[in-house]
Amino acid sequence: MKIEPALIEQFQAIVGKKHVLSSREDLLCYSFDGTFAEFAPDLVVEPADTEQVAAVIRLAHEHAVPVIARGMGSGLAAGTIPFGGGVILPLNRMRSILEIDQENMTATVQAGLITLDLQDKVEKLGLFYPPDPSSNKHSTIGGNIACNAGGPRCLKYGVTGDYVMGLTVVLADGRIIRTGGKTIKNVTGYNLIGLFIGSEGTLGIITEAVLKLVAKPSYVRTAVAAFDQLDDASRTVNAVLLSGIVPATMELMDNTAIICIEEAMHLGLPVEKDAILIIESDGFDDHVVQQEIDAIASVCRQNGASDVQVAKTEAERADLWRARRNVSPSLARRAPNKLGEDISVPRSQIPEAVRRLKSISQRYGLPIVIFGHAGDGNLHPNILFDKRDPDQWGRVEKMVAEIFGAAVALGGTLSGEHGVGTLKLPYLESDVGAISIEVQQRIKQALDPKGILNPGKSLPLLTPTAS
Ligand SMILES: Cc1cc2nc3c(=O)[nH]c(=O)nc-3n(C[C@H](O)[C@H](O)[C@H](O)COP(=O)(O)OP(=O)(O)OC[C@H]3O[C@@H](n4cnc5c(N)ncnc54)[C@H](O)[C@@H]3O)c2cc1C
Repeated sequence: MKIEPALIEQFQAIVGKKHVLSSREDLLCYSFDGTFAEFAPDLVVEPADTEQVAAVIRLAHEHAVPVIARGMGSGLAAGTIPFGGGVILPLNRMRSILEIDQENMTATVQAGLITLDLQDKVEKLGLFYPPDPSSNKHSTIGGNIACNAGGPRCLKYGVTGDYVMGLTVVLADGRIIRTGGKTIKNVTGYNLIGLFIGSEGTLGIITEAVLKLVAKPSYVRTAVAAFDQLDDASRTVNAVLLSGIVPATMELMDNTAIICIEEAMHLGLPVEKDAILIIESDGFDDHVVQQEIDAIASVCRQNGASDVQVAKTEAERADLWRARRNVSPSLARRAPNKLGEDISVPRSQIPEAVRRLKSISQRYGLPIVIFGHAGDGNLHPNILFDKRDPDQWGRVEKMVAEIFGAAVALGGTLSGEHGVGTLKLPYLESDVGAISIEVQQRIKQALDPKGILNPGKSLPLLTPTAS
């Protein structure tokens, strides 16, 4: 779409000339995310605070120009790709920690803050912000809230949404709404915070958040359990939880994931094994944490683990997490493209889900690498392929449909943490049903009648109403 020079000048007057980008090179940088999708925006406008966001959105609303909020663009659902053109609104200039309230154990932050920066800061004060997407070095709090990001620790501690106590949001017409705050309990009116969590930039632009903090656990033990059979590893996940222990994390990696990581990082992972589980226990009593990891190791052995090693030093533990966090990028060693899905199934169905994924892979002749936050039933089947080959791409599309079909048939869902974005849109109705889509469209209509906020994402497009 064409954005008139006069309108560009008005954007420049709000954020400053150097924060409005329009060169081909600049636009190219904002045409990607963590997927293989690509489409350049018409303009990039970088606001410095909530008031500037509001002024930009008011102007965009007046001229019916689409606006796509962007954190670090690490999304895995093509949620920030501006397929219909428009303005990309990066929140990266807004990266301050506004307050850490140690007495109430809250942090008030701007949306563009990198997640790890918050975690590092609060941990120095003995506090803890648990939601830990593996992308925590390169994703923002705003993006995490907009996608309701999860991560390894969410098994014990819950997902991003469980830590959001208050939000400042710029609505589609440029008004600023502040909802929630520092109170632990708050049932005054509808739960608007819940509405914006996971809304993928389609209902409002999150500019600030009040986040819950907890006390940082004093002790942690991390074990790696190796299995000769993937099936045994996936059965073990629920066996550990049924034994009454809730570890902080329980991450699964299949053989291809282990090999790719080992080739990339040389950490001494057991490449001959069919699967590993990385399991962590944490708490405030060293003895209890040790007992817990011993009990977990014993459940793993009873369920077929051929070897269980507990990290002896912090460096060994850090290596295991470095391995886990780098699974996704290391897969590039195997194929030019990967399509990473994010299905979530009831925990009892993990073994069956893994079996069905491997069967889909065999039938279509393309590898599906399986890793993920198995403890909460959230698996990341990654299809490896070469997009330049139309035959492979055709097979990938069919495989994706079967993967989602399997998840839903097992009582699961399309996405545990990455969101719908563009890539899962064709399958949405098969999961949530027509009535849910209609209800969500009415919410969208009420909050964004012109359809300017991230159009075409998360929900089938509405016909915009004139206003
Ligand atoms: C290697 C790798 C590992 C990953 N691991 C995990 C993981 O363990 N768990 C997990 O949940 N995800 C994971 N992800 C996916 C991704 O990092 C998350 O979805 C993350 O929350 C996106 O944050 P971002 O700042 O990059 O958002 P972006 O990608 O920039 O945006 C994502 C969506 O949020 C919207 N948005 C962004 N900021 C705002 C805002 N301020 N207001 C309103 N809407 C906004 C965008 O419009 C878009 O729809 C991983 C990605 C990669 C590449």
